Amino acid sequence: MAEPYKIVIGLEVHVQLLTKTKLFCGCPNKFGLPPNSAVCPVCLGMPGSLPVMNRKAFELSLKAALALNCSIASHPGEKPGYTKWDRKNYYYPDLPKNYQISQYELPFSHDGFLEINVHPDPKKGYTPKKVGIIRAHLEEDAGKNIHDESGRGGDTRVDLNRTGTPLLEIVSHPDMNSPEEAIAYLEEIRLLLRELAVSDCEMQEGSLRCDANVNVHIPKPDEPKGYAATPLVEIKNLNSFRAVGRAITYEAKRQYEQFQKDPVNYRIGKLLKTTAGWDDAKGRTEVQRHKEEAADYRYFPEPDLVPVIVSKEQLDAVKATMGELPQAQRQRLQSQYGLSLYDAEVLSSKGRKMVAYFEEVAKELAGDGKTAANRLSDLVFPALTERHEEIEEFPIRPAAFATFLKATGSLPKMDRLSVFAVVLEKGLDVEAAKKEVGIKEFDESALRAAAIAAIAANPKAVADFKGGKDSAKMAIVGHVMKNNKGAPNDVVRKLVDEELGK
Ligand code: ZN
Ligand code: MN
Repeated sequence: MAEPYKIVIGLEVHVQLLTKTKLFCGCPNKFGLPPNSAVCPVCLGMPGSLPVMNRKAFELSLKAALALNCSIASHPGEKPGYTKWDRKNYYYPDLPKNYQISQYELPFSHDGFLEINVHPDPKKGYTPKKVGIIRAHLEEDAGKNIHDESGRGGDTRVDLNRTGTPLLEIVSHPDMNSPEEAIAYLEEIRLLLRELAVSDCEMQEGSLRCDANVNVHIPKPDEPKGYAATPLVEIKNLNSFRAVGRAITYEAKRQYEQFQKDPVNYRIGKLLKTTAGWDDAKGRTEVQRHKEEAADYRYFPEPDLVPVIVSKEQLDAVKATMGELPQAQRQRLQSQYGLSLYDAEVLSSKGRKMVAYFEEVAKELAGDGKTAANRLSDLVFPALTERHEEIEEFPIRPAAFATFLKATGSLPKMDRLSVFAVVLEKGLDVEAAKKEVGIKEFDESALRAAAIAAIAANPKAVADFKGGKDSAKMAIVGHVMKNNKGAPNDVVRKLVDEELGK
Protein backbone atom coordinates (compact mmCIF):
# COMPACT_ATOMS: atom_id res chain seq x y z
CA MET A 1 0.00 0.00 0.00
CA ALA A 2 1.29 3.38 -0.96
CA GLU A 3 -0.16 5.31 1.99
CA PRO A 4 1.79 5.53 5.28
CA TYR A 5 -1.30 4.22 7.12
CA LYS A 6 -3.70 1.31 7.06
CA ILE A 7 -7.39 2.09 6.40
CA VAL A 8 -9.89 0.20 8.56
CA ILE A 9 -13.47 0.06 7.28
CA GLY A 10 -16.67 -1.44 8.64
CA LEU A 11 -19.89 -1.05 6.69
CA GLU A 12 -23.50 -0.75 7.79
CA VAL A 13 -25.82 -1.52 4.94
CA HIS A 14 -29.58 -0.98 4.95
CA VAL A 15 -31.56 -2.70 2.22
CA GLN A 16 -35.28 -2.35 1.58
CA LEU A 17 -37.01 -5.68 1.28
CA LEU A 18 -39.11 -6.58 -1.76
CA THR A 19 -42.40 -7.07 0.05
CA LYS A 20 -45.80 -5.97 -1.21
CA THR A 21 -46.68 -4.27 2.07
CA LYS A 22 -44.92 -2.50 4.93
CA LEU A 23 -43.36 -4.24 7.93
CA PHE A 24 -46.18 -3.78 10.45
CA CYS A 25 -49.23 -2.64 8.43
CA GLY A 26 -50.96 -3.27 5.11
CA CYS A 27 -49.81 -0.09 3.32
CA PRO A 28 -48.06 -0.66 -0.01
CA ASN A 29 -44.27 -0.82 0.00
CA LYS A 30 -43.78 1.01 -3.25
CA PHE A 31 -41.39 3.69 -4.45
CA GLY A 32 -42.61 6.77 -6.31
CA LEU A 33 -46.23 7.11 -5.09
CA PRO A 34 -47.66 10.61 -4.47
CA PRO A 35 -46.42 11.97 -1.10
CA ASN A 36 -48.29 10.71 1.97
CA SER A 37 -50.64 8.50 -0.06
CA ALA A 38 -49.41 5.16 1.35
CA VAL A 39 -50.05 5.69 5.06
CA CYS A 40 -52.41 4.42 7.77
CA PRO A 41 -52.86 4.84 11.54
CA VAL A 42 -50.19 2.18 12.26
CA CYS A 43 -47.36 3.69 10.23
CA LEU A 44 -48.45 7.21 11.18
CA GLY A 45 -48.03 6.26 14.83
CA MET A 46 -51.60 7.10 15.88
CA PRO A 47 -52.43 6.34 19.51
CA GLY A 48 -54.06 2.96 19.97
CA SER A 49 -52.93 1.44 16.67
CA LEU A 50 -51.12 -1.89 16.85
CA PRO A 51 -48.42 -3.37 14.63
CA VAL A 52 -48.70 -6.84 13.02
CA MET A 53 -45.51 -8.44 11.73
CA ASN A 54 -45.15 -9.06 7.99
CA ARG A 55 -44.30 -12.75 7.55
CA LYS A 56 -42.86 -12.29 4.05
CA ALA A 57 -40.40 -9.68 5.33
CA PHE A 58 -39.25 -12.12 7.97
CA GLU A 59 -38.78 -14.90 5.40
CA LEU A 60 -36.80 -12.66 3.06
CA SER A 61 -34.55 -11.63 5.94
CA LEU A 62 -33.99 -15.26 6.90
CA LYS A 63 -32.96 -16.00 3.33
CA ALA A 64 -30.49 -13.12 3.33
CA ALA A 65 -29.07 -14.06 6.72
CA LEU A 66 -28.55 -17.68 5.68
CA ALA A 67 -26.82 -16.51 2.50
CA LEU A 68 -24.56 -14.37 4.72
CA ASN A 69 -23.65 -17.50 6.70
CA CYS A 70 -25.23 -16.10 9.87
CA SER A 71 -26.46 -18.03 12.90
CA ILE A 72 -30.19 -17.60 13.23
CA ALA A 73 -31.96 -16.48 16.38
CA SER A 74 -29.89 -18.57 18.71
CA HIS A 75 -28.00 -17.26 21.68
CA PRO A 76 -25.97 -19.36 24.09
CA GLY A 77 -28.23 -21.01 26.61
CA GLU A 78 -31.43 -20.26 24.74
CA LYS A 79 -33.13 -23.15 23.06
CA PRO A 80 -35.18 -22.92 20.98
CA GLY A 81 -33.72 -19.66 19.82
CA TYR A 82 -35.96 -16.68 19.49
CA THR A 83 -35.70 -13.11 18.43
CA LYS A 84 -37.60 -10.08 19.63
CA TRP A 85 -38.37 -6.49 18.79
CA ASP A 86 -37.15 -3.37 20.57
CA ARG A 87 -38.05 0.28 20.46
CA LYS A 88 -35.27 2.66 19.54
CA ASN A 89 -36.40 6.03 20.81
CA TYR A 90 -35.57 9.24 19.08
CA TYR A 91 -37.42 12.31 17.93
CA TYR A 92 -37.29 13.27 14.30
CA PRO A 93 -39.89 14.93 12.05
CA ASP A 94 -39.90 11.94 9.68
CA LEU A 95 -40.53 9.47 12.51
CA PRO A 96 -44.10 10.15 13.70
CA LYS A 97 -44.10 7.45 16.43
CA ASN A 98 -40.97 8.97 18.01
CA TYR A 99 -39.46 5.51 18.07
CA GLN A 100 -38.34 3.00 15.50
CA ILE A 101 -39.20 -0.67 15.90
CA SER A 102 -35.88 -2.42 15.53
CA GLN A 103 -33.95 -5.31 17.06
CA TYR A 104 -31.36 -4.64 19.71
CA GLU A 105 -30.20 -7.37 22.05
CA LEU A 106 -31.61 -10.41 20.27
CA PRO A 107 -31.29 -9.79 16.53
CA PHE A 108 -32.68 -12.63 14.45
CA SER A 109 -29.24 -13.35 12.98
CA HIS A 110 -25.59 -12.83 13.89
CA ASP A 111 -21.98 -13.92 13.37
CA GLY A 112 -21.79 -14.63 9.66
CA PHE A 113 -19.37 -13.80 6.89
CA LEU A 114 -19.28 -12.92 3.23
CA GLU A 115 -16.48 -13.94 0.92
CA ILE A 116 -15.51 -11.25 -1.55
CA ASN A 117 -13.13 -11.20 -4.51
CA VAL A 118 -11.03 -8.09 -4.65
CA HIS A 119 -9.49 -7.18 -7.94
CA PRO A 120 -7.10 -4.28 -7.98
CA ASP A 121 -6.03 -5.52 -11.39
CA PRO A 122 -8.22 -8.00 -13.29
CA LYS A 123 -5.20 -9.26 -15.23
CA LYS A 124 -3.60 -10.46 -12.02
CA GLY A 125 -6.72 -12.31 -10.93
CA TYR A 126 -8.75 -12.02 -7.78
CA THR A 127 -7.86 -12.25 -4.12
CA PRO A 128 -10.57 -13.90 -2.03
CA LYS A 129 -11.21 -12.39 1.40
CA LYS A 130 -13.70 -13.12 4.16
CA VAL A 131 -15.51 -10.17 5.69
CA GLY A 132 -17.15 -10.95 9.03
CA ILE A 133 -20.82 -10.04 9.58
CA ILE A 134 -21.63 -8.98 13.14
CA ARG A 135 -25.39 -9.09 12.74
CA ALA A 136 -28.26 -8.70 10.32
CA HIS A 137 -31.51 -7.49 11.83
CA LEU A 138 -34.92 -6.26 10.72
CA GLU A 139 -36.31 -2.83 11.40
CA GLU A 140 -38.75 -0.32 9.99
CA ASP A 141 -37.68 2.62 7.87
CA ALA A 142 -38.42 6.27 8.66
CA GLY A 143 -40.09 8.75 6.30
CA LYS A 144 -38.33 11.35 4.26
CA ASN A 145 -37.79 15.06 4.86
CA ILE A 146 -37.79 16.97 1.61
CA HIS A 147 -35.86 20.22 1.93
CA ASP A 148 -36.23 23.22 -0.29
CA GLU A 149 -33.08 23.30 -2.38
CA SER A 150 -33.66 26.56 -4.20
CA GLY A 151 -31.43 28.37 -1.72
CA ARG A 152 -34.22 30.85 -1.03
CA GLY A 153 -34.96 29.44 2.40
CA GLY A 154 -38.20 27.67 1.49
CA ASP A 155 -39.93 25.17 3.75
CA THR A 156 -39.20 21.54 4.50
CA ARG A 157 -41.92 18.98 3.89
CA VAL A 158 -42.23 15.43 5.09
CA ASP A 159 -43.31 12.40 3.06
CA LEU A 160 -44.31 9.47 5.27
CA ASN A 161 -44.81 6.89 2.51
CA ARG A 162 -41.54 5.23 3.44
CA THR A 163 -42.35 5.14 7.15
CA GLY A 164 -42.63 1.53 8.26
CA THR A 165 -41.23 -0.10 5.13
CA PRO A 166 -39.07 -3.14 5.97
CA LEU A 167 -35.31 -2.74 6.19
CA LEU A 168 -32.62 -5.33 6.69
CA GLU A 169 -29.61 -3.83 8.42
CA ILE A 170 -26.36 -5.73 7.81
CA VAL A 171 -23.42 -4.73 10.01
CA SER A 172 -19.94 -5.91 9.09
CA HIS A 173 -16.84 -6.25 11.19
CA PRO A 174 -14.14 -3.65 10.39
CA ASP A 175 -12.48 -6.19 8.10
CA MET A 176 -12.02 -4.10 4.96
CA ASN A 177 -8.80 -2.22 4.33
CA SER A 178 -9.27 -0.34 1.08
CA PRO A 179 -12.00 1.43 -0.88
CA GLU A 180 -11.76 -1.40 -3.43
CA GLU A 181 -12.56 -3.98 -0.74
CA ALA A 182 -15.52 -1.93 0.49
CA ILE A 183 -16.90 -1.69 -3.03
CA ALA A 184 -16.31 -5.41 -3.69
CA TYR A 185 -18.25 -6.17 -0.47
CA LEU A 186 -21.16 -3.98 -1.54
CA GLU A 187 -21.18 -5.48 -5.03
CA GLU A 188 -21.30 -8.97 -3.56
CA ILE A 189 -24.16 -8.05 -1.19
CA ARG A 190 -26.07 -6.50 -4.07
CA LEU A 191 -25.54 -9.53 -6.30
CA LEU A 192 -26.56 -11.93 -3.54
CA LEU A 193 -29.70 -10.06 -2.51
CA ARG A 194 -30.81 -9.48 -6.09
CA GLU A 195 -30.33 -13.15 -6.96
CA LEU A 196 -32.41 -14.13 -3.95
CA ALA A 197 -35.08 -11.49 -4.78
CA VAL A 198 -34.66 -10.10 -1.26
CA SER A 199 -34.13 -6.55 -2.48
CA ASP A 200 -33.66 -4.74 -5.77
CA CYS A 201 -30.73 -2.88 -4.19
CA GLU A 202 -31.21 0.29 -6.24
CA MET A 203 -28.92 2.83 -4.63
CA GLN A 204 -30.50 5.62 -6.67
CA GLU A 205 -33.91 4.90 -5.16
CA GLY A 206 -32.48 4.35 -1.71
CA SER A 207 -33.25 0.65 -1.52
CA LEU A 208 -29.58 0.05 -0.70
CA ARG A 209 -27.96 2.60 1.60
CA CYS A 210 -24.53 2.47 3.09
CA ASP A 211 -22.80 4.05 6.08
CA ALA A 212 -19.05 3.57 6.34
CA ASN A 213 -17.17 3.50 9.65
CA VAL A 214 -13.64 4.59 8.91
CA ASN A 215 -10.43 5.12 10.84
CA VAL A 216 -6.75 4.64 10.14
CA HIS A 217 -3.90 2.81 11.86
CA ILE A 218 -0.56 4.59 11.72
CA PRO A 219 2.47 2.37 12.31
CA LYS A 220 4.36 3.36 15.53
CA PRO A 221 6.84 0.69 16.57
CA ASP A 222 7.16 2.16 20.09
CA GLU A 223 3.40 1.97 20.85
CA PRO A 224 1.94 -1.02 22.73
CA LYS A 225 -0.01 -2.20 19.68
CA GLY A 226 2.64 -1.14 17.19
CA TYR A 227 0.32 1.48 15.76
CA ALA A 228 -1.78 4.50 16.71
CA ALA A 229 -5.48 4.52 15.77
CA THR A 230 -7.51 7.62 14.92
CA PRO A 231 -11.07 8.17 16.22
CA LEU A 232 -13.93 6.53 14.31
CA VAL A 233 -15.93 8.56 11.85
CA GLU A 234 -19.18 7.21 10.45
CA ILE A 235 -19.88 8.57 6.98
CA LYS A 236 -23.66 8.49 6.51
CA ASN A 237 -25.88 7.73 3.55
CA LEU A 238 -23.43 7.15 0.75
CA ASN A 239 -25.60 6.75 -2.31
CA SER A 240 -23.34 5.30 -4.98
CA PHE A 241 -20.42 2.88 -5.06
CA ARG A 242 -18.30 5.67 -6.46
CA ALA A 243 -19.21 7.89 -3.51
CA VAL A 244 -18.26 5.08 -1.11
CA GLY A 245 -14.82 4.81 -2.69
CA ARG A 246 -14.20 8.55 -2.84
CA ALA A 247 -15.49 9.23 0.67
CA ILE A 248 -13.33 6.53 2.26
CA THR A 249 -10.21 7.67 0.41
CA TYR A 250 -10.82 11.28 1.39
CA GLU A 251 -11.69 10.57 5.02
CA ALA A 252 -8.68 8.28 5.62
CA LYS A 253 -6.31 10.93 4.31
CA ARG A 254 -8.04 13.64 6.34
CA GLN A 255 -7.70 11.58 9.52
CA TYR A 256 -4.05 10.88 8.85
CA GLU A 257 -3.36 14.60 8.37
CA GLN A 258 -5.32 15.44 11.52
CA PHE A 259 -3.23 12.91 13.42
CA GLN A 260 -0.02 14.49 12.13
CA LYS A 261 -1.19 17.81 13.59
CA ASP A 262 -2.23 16.40 16.96
CA PRO A 263 -0.69 12.96 17.55
CA VAL A 264 -1.39 13.04 21.28
CA ASN A 265 -5.10 13.76 21.31
CA TYR A 266 -6.43 12.76 17.91
CA ARG A 267 -6.85 9.15 18.92
CA ILE A 268 -9.52 6.56 19.36
CA GLY A 269 -10.60 6.44 23.00
CA LYS A 270 -9.71 10.10 23.53
CA LEU A 271 -12.35 11.47 21.18
CA LEU A 272 -15.92 10.27 20.67
CA LYS A 273 -17.07 8.74 17.46
CA THR A 274 -18.53 11.34 15.13
CA THR A 275 -20.82 11.18 12.14
CA ALA A 276 -20.08 12.91 8.88
CA GLY A 277 -21.87 13.58 5.63
CA TRP A 278 -20.31 13.22 2.21
CA ASP A 279 -20.54 16.18 -0.14
CA ASP A 280 -20.11 14.60 -3.54
CA ALA A 281 -19.87 17.90 -5.42
CA LYS A 282 -17.18 19.31 -3.13
CA GLY A 283 -15.53 15.90 -2.77
CA ARG A 284 -15.21 16.06 1.00
CA THR A 285 -16.65 14.74 4.23
CA GLU A 286 -18.26 17.14 6.68
CA VAL A 287 -18.36 16.21 10.33
CA GLN A 288 -21.89 16.60 11.70
CA ARG A 289 -22.28 15.54 15.31
CA HIS A 290 -21.08 13.25 18.02
CA LYS A 291 -22.66 9.88 17.67
CA GLU A 292 -25.33 8.85 20.15
CA GLU A 293 -24.37 5.93 22.32
CA ALA A 294 -26.80 3.02 22.47
CA ALA A 295 -27.93 4.22 25.91
CA ASP A 296 -29.12 7.51 24.42
CA TYR A 297 -31.76 5.64 22.45
CA ARG A 298 -33.34 4.14 25.58
CA TYR A 299 -33.92 0.82 23.86
CA PHE A 300 -36.61 -1.26 25.51
CA PRO A 301 -38.62 -4.33 24.45
CA GLU A 302 -41.51 -3.57 22.09
CA PRO A 303 -44.60 -4.47 24.13
CA ASP A 304 -46.95 -4.68 21.15
CA LEU A 305 -45.17 -7.53 19.36
CA VAL A 306 -44.48 -11.06 20.55
CA PRO A 307 -41.00 -12.60 20.25
CA VAL A 308 -40.52 -14.74 17.14
CA ILE A 309 -39.38 -18.35 17.38
CA VAL A 310 -37.66 -19.70 14.29
CA SER A 311 -38.10 -23.44 13.88
CA LYS A 312 -35.70 -25.75 12.10
CA GLU A 313 -38.50 -26.68 9.68
CA GLN A 314 -38.96 -23.02 8.81
CA LEU A 315 -35.24 -22.60 8.21
CA ASP A 316 -35.10 -25.74 6.04
CA ALA A 317 -38.04 -24.49 3.98
CA VAL A 318 -36.28 -21.17 3.37
CA LYS A 319 -33.00 -22.91 2.52
CA ALA A 320 -34.75 -25.07 -0.05
CA THR A 321 -35.74 -21.98 -2.04
CA MET A 322 -32.30 -20.38 -2.15
CA GLY A 323 -30.63 -22.17 -5.05
CA GLU A 324 -26.95 -21.86 -5.85
CA LEU A 325 -25.31 -18.76 -4.37
CA PRO A 326 -22.71 -16.72 -6.28
CA GLN A 327 -19.62 -17.88 -4.39
CA ALA A 328 -20.49 -21.58 -4.80
CA GLN A 329 -21.43 -20.91 -8.39
CA ARG A 330 -18.04 -19.35 -9.16
CA GLN A 331 -16.29 -22.38 -7.72
CA ARG A 332 -18.43 -24.74 -9.77
CA LEU A 333 -17.88 -22.76 -12.98
CA GLN A 334 -14.14 -23.06 -12.41
CA SER A 335 -14.08 -26.77 -11.66
CA GLN A 336 -16.74 -27.87 -14.15
CA TYR A 337 -15.65 -25.77 -17.14
CA GLY A 338 -12.01 -24.99 -16.35
CA LEU A 339 -12.74 -21.24 -16.27
CA SER A 340 -10.39 -18.84 -14.53
CA LEU A 341 -11.70 -17.16 -11.37
CA TYR A 342 -11.79 -13.96 -13.41
CA ASP A 343 -14.09 -15.45 -16.07
CA ALA A 344 -16.25 -17.14 -13.44
CA GLU A 345 -16.52 -13.84 -11.57
CA VAL A 346 -17.53 -11.92 -14.69
CA LEU A 347 -20.24 -14.46 -15.51
CA SER A 348 -21.68 -14.79 -12.04
CA SER A 349 -21.67 -11.02 -11.49
CA LYS A 350 -24.16 -10.83 -14.35
CA GLY A 351 -26.63 -13.04 -12.55
CA ARG A 352 -28.15 -16.49 -12.68
CA LYS A 353 -29.88 -15.97 -16.01
CA MET A 354 -26.55 -15.17 -17.66
CA VAL A 355 -24.96 -18.23 -16.08
CA ALA A 356 -27.84 -20.39 -17.35
CA TYR A 357 -27.36 -18.98 -20.86
CA PHE A 358 -23.64 -19.67 -20.67
CA GLU A 359 -24.19 -23.25 -19.52
CA GLU A 360 -26.57 -23.98 -22.39
CA VAL A 361 -24.06 -22.63 -24.92
CA ALA A 362 -21.25 -24.66 -23.33
CA LYS A 363 -23.39 -27.79 -23.49
CA GLU A 364 -24.02 -27.27 -27.22
CA LEU A 365 -20.26 -26.87 -27.65
CA ALA A 366 -19.63 -30.25 -26.01
CA GLY A 367 -18.72 -28.67 -22.69
CA ASP A 368 -16.23 -26.15 -24.09
CA GLY A 369 -16.88 -23.49 -21.45
CA LYS A 370 -13.73 -21.55 -22.20
CA THR A 371 -14.86 -20.79 -25.78
CA ALA A 372 -18.41 -20.09 -24.61
CA ALA A 373 -17.19 -17.62 -21.97
CA ASN A 374 -14.76 -15.88 -24.34
CA ARG A 375 -17.34 -15.46 -27.08
CA LEU A 376 -19.96 -14.22 -24.63
CA SER A 377 -17.60 -11.44 -23.59
CA ASP A 378 -16.51 -10.63 -27.17
CA LEU A 379 -19.95 -10.68 -28.72
CA VAL A 380 -22.90 -10.87 -26.36
CA PHE A 381 -21.90 -8.57 -23.48
CA PRO A 382 -21.14 -5.55 -25.70
CA ALA A 383 -24.34 -6.20 -27.70
CA LEU A 384 -26.43 -6.25 -24.50
CA THR A 385 -24.90 -2.97 -23.37
CA GLU A 386 -25.50 -1.35 -26.72
CA ARG A 387 -29.07 -2.61 -27.00
CA HIS A 388 -29.93 -1.95 -23.32
CA GLU A 389 -31.16 -5.50 -23.03
CA GLU A 390 -31.08 -8.18 -20.38
CA ILE A 391 -29.89 -11.63 -21.42
CA GLU A 392 -33.42 -13.06 -21.24
CA GLU A 393 -34.54 -10.53 -23.88
CA PHE A 394 -31.60 -11.17 -26.19
CA PRO A 395 -32.92 -12.38 -29.57
CA ILE A 396 -30.14 -14.92 -30.17
CA ARG A 397 -30.91 -17.80 -27.85
CA PRO A 398 -28.23 -20.20 -26.58
CA ALA A 399 -28.68 -22.95 -29.20
CA ALA A 400 -28.57 -20.40 -32.03
CA PHE A 401 -25.52 -18.75 -30.49
CA ALA A 402 -23.75 -22.11 -30.32
CA THR A 403 -24.62 -22.76 -33.97
CA PHE A 404 -23.21 -19.34 -34.83
CA LEU A 405 -19.98 -20.13 -32.98
CA LYS A 406 -19.54 -23.45 -34.76
CA ALA A 407 -20.07 -21.81 -38.16
CA THR A 408 -17.64 -18.96 -37.46
CA GLY A 409 -15.03 -20.76 -35.38
CA SER A 410 -12.27 -20.43 -37.96
CA LEU A 411 -12.92 -16.79 -38.87
CA PRO A 412 -10.62 -14.01 -37.72
CA LYS A 413 -12.08 -12.10 -34.79
CA MET A 414 -13.01 -8.99 -36.78
CA ASP A 415 -14.90 -11.01 -39.36
CA ARG A 416 -16.75 -12.89 -36.65
CA LEU A 417 -17.79 -9.56 -35.10
CA SER A 418 -19.06 -8.29 -38.46
CA VAL A 419 -21.08 -11.44 -39.12
CA PHE A 420 -22.51 -11.34 -35.61
CA ALA A 421 -23.63 -7.73 -36.07
CA VAL A 422 -25.48 -8.66 -39.27
CA VAL A 423 -27.13 -11.71 -37.66
CA LEU A 424 -28.29 -9.50 -34.83
CA GLU A 425 -29.42 -6.46 -36.82
CA LYS A 426 -31.00 -8.17 -39.80
CA GLY A 427 -32.05 -11.44 -38.21
CA LEU A 428 -30.24 -13.39 -40.96
CA ASP A 429 -28.97 -16.89 -40.40
CA VAL A 430 -25.24 -17.23 -40.10
CA GLU A 431 -24.54 -18.45 -43.67
CA ALA A 432 -26.57 -15.61 -45.20
CA ALA A 433 -24.84 -13.14 -42.88
CA LYS A 434 -21.43 -14.40 -43.98
CA LYS A 435 -22.39 -13.76 -47.63
CA GLU A 436 -23.69 -10.32 -46.78
CA VAL A 437 -20.44 -9.41 -45.04
CA GLY A 438 -18.49 -10.88 -47.99
CA ILE A 439 -16.74 -13.66 -46.11
CA LYS A 440 -15.31 -16.13 -48.57
CA GLU A 441 -15.46 -19.76 -47.65
CA PHE A 442 -12.15 -21.53 -47.59
CA ASP A 443 -12.31 -25.23 -47.41
CA GLU A 444 -9.44 -26.88 -45.73
CA SER A 445 -8.34 -29.08 -48.62
CA ALA A 446 -7.98 -26.06 -50.93
CA LEU A 447 -5.93 -24.26 -48.29
CA ARG A 448 -3.79 -27.34 -47.79
CA ALA A 449 -3.12 -27.46 -51.52
CA ALA A 450 -2.15 -23.78 -51.35
CA ALA A 451 0.21 -24.54 -48.46
CA ILE A 452 1.87 -27.34 -50.41
CA ALA A 453 2.25 -25.03 -53.42
CA ALA A 454 3.74 -22.26 -51.26
CA ILE A 455 6.26 -24.67 -49.77
CA ALA A 456 7.26 -25.79 -53.27
CA ALA A 457 7.60 -22.15 -54.40
CA ASN A 458 9.84 -21.08 -51.48
CA PRO A 459 12.75 -23.50 -51.27
CA LYS A 460 14.98 -20.95 -49.52
CA ALA A 461 12.48 -20.32 -46.71
CA VAL A 462 12.00 -24.05 -46.30
CA ALA A 463 15.77 -24.58 -46.08
CA ASP A 464 16.09 -21.72 -43.52
CA PHE A 465 13.26 -23.18 -41.46
CA LYS A 466 14.79 -26.65 -41.50
CA GLY A 467 18.12 -25.03 -40.56
CA GLY A 468 16.51 -23.80 -37.34
CA LYS A 469 15.21 -20.36 -38.35
CA ASP A 470 11.64 -20.53 -37.05
CA SER A 471 10.61 -17.17 -38.43
CA ALA A 472 11.22 -18.36 -42.01
CA LYS A 473 7.91 -20.17 -41.72
CA MET A 474 6.09 -16.82 -41.75
CA ALA A 475 7.21 -16.20 -45.33
CA ILE A 476 5.37 -19.35 -46.38
CA VAL A 477 2.25 -18.47 -44.34
CA GLY A 478 2.37 -14.99 -45.89
CA HIS A 479 2.54 -16.50 -49.37
CA VAL A 480 -0.63 -18.54 -48.73
CA MET A 481 -2.46 -15.56 -47.19
CA LYS A 482 -1.54 -13.33 -50.12
CA ASN A 483 -3.20 -15.67 -52.58
CA ASN A 484 -6.20 -16.36 -50.29
CA LYS A 485 -7.25 -13.03 -48.87
CA GLY A 486 -9.43 -13.35 -45.78
CA ALA A 487 -8.40 -16.93 -45.08
CA PRO A 488 -8.28 -17.82 -41.37
CA ASN A 489 -4.71 -17.21 -40.29
CA ASP A 490 -4.71 -19.82 -37.54
CA VAL A 491 -5.86 -22.54 -39.94
CA VAL A 492 -3.23 -21.57 -42.51
CA ARG A 493 -0.49 -21.70 -39.86
CA LYS A 494 -1.63 -25.07 -38.71
CA LEU A 495 -1.65 -26.45 -42.29
CA VAL A 496 1.78 -24.99 -43.07
CA ASP A 497 3.11 -26.54 -39.84
CA GLU A 498 1.70 -29.88 -40.78
CA GLU A 499 3.08 -29.81 -44.31
CA LEU A 500 6.51 -28.59 -43.21
CA GLY A 501 6.67 -31.35 -40.64
CA LYS A 502 6.34 -34.03 -43.28
ZN1 ZN B 1 -49.51 1.88 7.18
MN1 MN C 1 -30.62 0.92 11.18
